[in-house]
Amino acid sequence: MKNSNVQKWAREVIKPAEIEKYLIDGQDFIDESRIIGQLAAAADPDTARVREIIAKSLQIERLEPEETAALLRVTDDELWHEMYAAGLEVKRRVYDNRIVFFAPLYCSNLCINNCAYCGFRYENKEEKRRILTMEEIRQEATAVINEGHKRMIAVYGEHPLSAADYIAETIKTIYDVKVPAASGYNSIRRVNINAAPMSIDDLKKIRHVGIGTYQVFQETYHRPTFAAVHPDNTVKGDYRWRLYALHRAMDAGIDDIAVGALFGLYDWRFEVMGLLYHAIDLERWFGIGPHTISFPRMTPASGSCLSRTSRWLVGDADFKKLVTVLRLSVPYSGLIITARESSAMRRDVIQVGCTQTDASTRIGVGGYTAGLQALAGLRKDAQQINKQQFTLGDTRSLDEVVRELAENGMITSFCTAGYRCGRTGDKIMGLLKGCIEGKFCKLNAVLTFREYLDDYASPETKAVGEKLLRTEIDEINALPFFKKGGLLEIFTKMYGQVAGGKRDVYI
Ligand code: SAM
Ligand code: SF4
Repeated sequence: MKNSNVQKWAREVIKPAEIEKYLIDGQDFIDESRIIGQLAAAADPDTARVREIIAKSLQIERLEPEETAALLRVTDDELWHEMYAAGLEVKRRVYDNRIVFFAPLYCSNLCINNCAYCGFRYENKEEKRRILTMEEIRQEATAVINEGHKRMIAVYGEHPLSAADYIAETIKTIYDVKVPAASGYNSIRRVNINAAPMSIDDLKKIRHVGIGTYQVFQETYHRPTFAAVHPDNTVKGDYRWRLYALHRAMDAGIDDIAVGALFGLYDWRFEVMGLLYHAIDLERWFGIGPHTISFPRMTPASGSCLSRTSRWLVGDADFKKLVTVLRLSVPYSGLIITARESSAMRRDVIQVGCTQTDASTRIGVGGYTAGLQALAGLRKDAQQINKQQFTLGDTRSLDEVVRELAENGMITSFCTAGYRCGRTGDKIMGLLKGCIEGKFCKLNAVLTFREYLDDYASPETKAVGEKLLRTEIDEINALPFFKKGGLLEIFTKMYGQVAGGKRDVYI
């Protein structure tokens, strides 16, 4: 594509009217001096007050900024341990012992932006640029399905060639891939995306092809830092266009939305406050908050000095604290921990309330297919293909991670039923807050875990998984909730069907 055409496209991306409509008296919802004041005022909080705040969170109530600021300023180790335990308890009440799995699919690394922390930025000459054709998308999706995944997040750089029409086509293509199974077929049942902010019209295009969750990370809520890492002559340099990306998604009818911040660019306590204010503003406008919150830690990226040297890089102990405070502050949102983190770190933060993760992850564009070809000795440049946007901390297979979780009493869920049964947006928020969604999900987790054990698990994983399934089914049989409305009978019948080879059965 000619450079002048790319520049022309970039100039037309931002629609000022689709920012201004969300401002109040010309102001957005991030008031830096207020956040700094709240954090300062909360220093050394009183123990009884902290315990009151924890108790509120255990009632599955979203915290107010002053309350979150108090938790962020706790210094007493004993109180932190109470908070870790409360984080896990909140997770158990809302999501039970399930962990939802997904696989990222990098579709294109073409990018017009120049984010100082990212290997895809246009100035990075080390990066080999590539945008997948629909045939290549099909091959990648097939490789991911063959690992056992049912849920995918497609990721794109910002570029006219990977804009809304391309995104919509890739989503349709992924949904269309069907891999024959014992009876029926396996497929990706939910496609989420992580892509640049778009206009409401463009967002409607991707809603029409059945997007699951739309994820946009603000990266940093701190304006001076945002300006320093995103040159202002780039589209990404517009702080407010990004800040209201998810408001526009809601207005376009996409009601499953996901926020995030890239930890390591600025003070982690400030970013937690920023994420909370984002959730509150979404609640205020649309009555519902984010479906999930992400908190990637910046990891070394090719050609990015900042990703190694930032003075705000977050250590392991602080990372665990920030995840805990997010868990307690927004109890109804899912928390995503990715393979950027080491296996030990993932284990640790799952114990304070994370609900979703990935495995068998490849983040090179075309990485899944290249990995298979390299294994078969068919290509020698797999390493180049696998040159990644950033570095992964955990490269274990899905089978290994599923087994480890099962050994610790946690069930992997491949459930995608909520969105296909209309349990999204305000409906799912109500169910989550009332701790009811977790119960439906328990049934669907068991059904999809049965599928996974039969279709993909290694003998070792199957052995551990069968034991866990028996415990889960015993619990389902014993819980009065499932006896209401014939739910138990429906589940038992469906379980028999899945065990007999039928696929994609859900409640
Ligand atoms: N281009 C789109 C955008 O910027 O919104 C989406 C794709 S971008 C590849 C997805 C996310 O990767 C970014 O939002 C950023 O938070 C994360 N990321 C970029 N560089 C990273 C790094 N060095 N370490 C960890 N995460 C990084
Ligand atoms: Fe491009 Fe997104 Fe990377 Fe920035 S973070 S350089 S916008 S891919």
